[in-house]
Amino acid sequence: TTDSPLTEAELASAKRAYELDRKHVFHSWSAQEQLKPMVITRADGSYVWDGEGNKLLDFSSQLVNTNIGHQHPKVVAAIQEQAGKLCTVAPQHANDARSEAARLIAELTPGDLNRIFFTNGGADAVEHAIRMARLHTGKYKVLSAYRSYHGGTALAVNVTGDPRRIPNDYGNAGAVHFHAPFLYRSQFHAATEAEESQRALEHLETAIQLEGASNIAAIILESIPGTAGIMVPPPGYLQGVRELATKYGIIYIADEVMSGFGRAGKWFAIDHFDVAPDLLTFAKGVTSGYVPLGGVAISEEIYSTFAQRPYPGGLTYSGHPLASAAAVATINAMRDESMVENAASLGESVVAPALARMAERHPSIGEVRGTGMFWAIELVKNRATREPLAPYGASSPEMNELIGACKSRGLLPFANFNRIHVVPPLNINAEDLQAGLAILDEVFDLADAHVQG
Ligand code: PLP
Repeated sequence: TTDSPLTEAELASAKRAYELDRKHVFHSWSAQEQLKPMVITRADGSYVWDGEGNKLLDFSSQLVNTNIGHQHPKVVAAIQEQAGKLCTVAPQHANDARSEAARLIAELTPGDLNRIFFTNGGADAVEHAIRMARLHTGKYKVLSAYRSYHGGTALAVNVTGDPRRIPNDYGNAGAVHFHAPFLYRSQFHAATEAEESQRALEHLETAIQLEGASNIAAIILESIPGTAGIMVPPPGYLQGVRELATKYGIIYIADEVMSGFGRAGKWFAIDHFDVAPDLLTFAKGVTSGYVPLGGVAISEEIYSTFAQRPYPGGLTYSGHPLASAAAVATINAMRDESMVENAASLGESVVAPALARMAERHPSIGEVRGTGMFWAIELVKNRATREPLAPYGASSPEMNELIGACKSRGLLPFANFNRIHVVPPLNINAEDLQAGLAILDEVFDLADAHVQG
C-alpha cells in the first residue's frame, strides 16, 4: 500500500531519479545548479511521498492543479480505459471523449461560452484567446494587470505582469499593464474596498483612453489572481471591467487557468461575481493535471467570426483523447463527490477561522485572504510599514526557513515571494486540513522572530 515504507528497490530508484535529473533534466524558471528537486515516489489523495519515503501533506496541490487530489481511482481508470480503446486522433476528426469533454465544459462555463477550443495547457489557451480577440476586433493591444501570471510562452509571458516577464520582454508584443485592485497594497490610497474598486475602475478607464480604445483588442484578467497573491476583487470591480470592455468594444478574457474548476469554491471564480466574459481560458483543474489539457471557452459572438472564415490556429493534440477522457472523468468525479461544495464549505468553516486566529496570534502575518481552497497568507517584517518578509520578485532566508520547517513537519507548502498559499486539493478532509493549518501556525513562530517594530 502507499503507507508502507519504501522498499530498498524504491529507495534505489529514487536515488537514481535524482542523479539522472541533476545530469540531464533542465528545469523551469531555475538556475540549474542551485536546484535540489524533491523526488516524488508515490502519491495518494492529499499526500505525496519523497525519495526517502517521507509522507507529506500536499498543501500546494502541486502547481495548484491536482484539484481532486492524487490518483483518483475513477480518473485513473478512465485514462486506462481510453488508452486501451483509442490513444490519439488528429485534431480534424471528431471523437467521443473530446465531444463529451466539450459538452461538460460548455455546460459549466458562464454566459453563452458554448464552444470549446482545446489546447495543451494554460499558456497556449491564453495565446489563442488573445489571437481570437485580435482577429475578431481587428485590434492589437492587450491590457493586463501588473500583479498577474498568464503563462510562460512568448505572448503569455509578456501579458503576464509578474517579474518573470522582465527578462523575456523584447518589445512586449502589444501588452500594456495596469493596476488591478489590491487593497492591502493599494495603488489608489484607498481605505475601503468600495474606494479601491471605484478608483481601480477609474484607473482602468483612463488607461483605455490614453492607450486608445481603437487599438485595444482585449483585457485579460485572472478572475481571482493566483500566483500573484489571491487578491479576491472587491464587489463591483469585475462588473465594472465587463461594462468598460463593452463600452469600448474590447474583448474581456477571464483567465481561469488556476482559479477555475472549483478552486475558489465555485466552478469558476468569476461565478462569485455574476459576470460573463467573452472568452474564458482554463487548464490545470480541468484534468487535475493527470493528463495535460487547457482550452478556451468561446462566446457565440466570437464564434460567429470563425463560422465561415477559417480560424488561423491549431495544435496536433487539440482535444487529445487521453486528456479529454481525463477531463470527463475529473468533472464527473467532482460532481459526484460534491468537491466544489466541499471546497466552499471547508474554506468557510475551517480555513477562514483558522487563518483569522493565526493572523491575531502572529505579528508576522500582515493579511490573510481568499475563498474556497484558494487562500494567501501575506508575511511581513513590520505590520505598520507592511514591509514583506521577502522582496517582490525574490525569496529570502526567512521564507526559506519557513518552507524548510513546513517540509520537516510533513507539510508541502506553496510559497511565492513573501506569501504562503493554502491551496490543498478540493476534496481534502477536515482533519487533514486542520493538521496542515496547525503546522503552519507552529512555523509562523519562526517568522515572528524576524518581526521588527
Ligand atoms: N494562467 C494562469 C492564471 C496560471 O496560473 C497559469 C499557470 O500557473 C497559466 C496561465 C499558464 O498555464 P500553463 O503552465 O499550463 O501553461
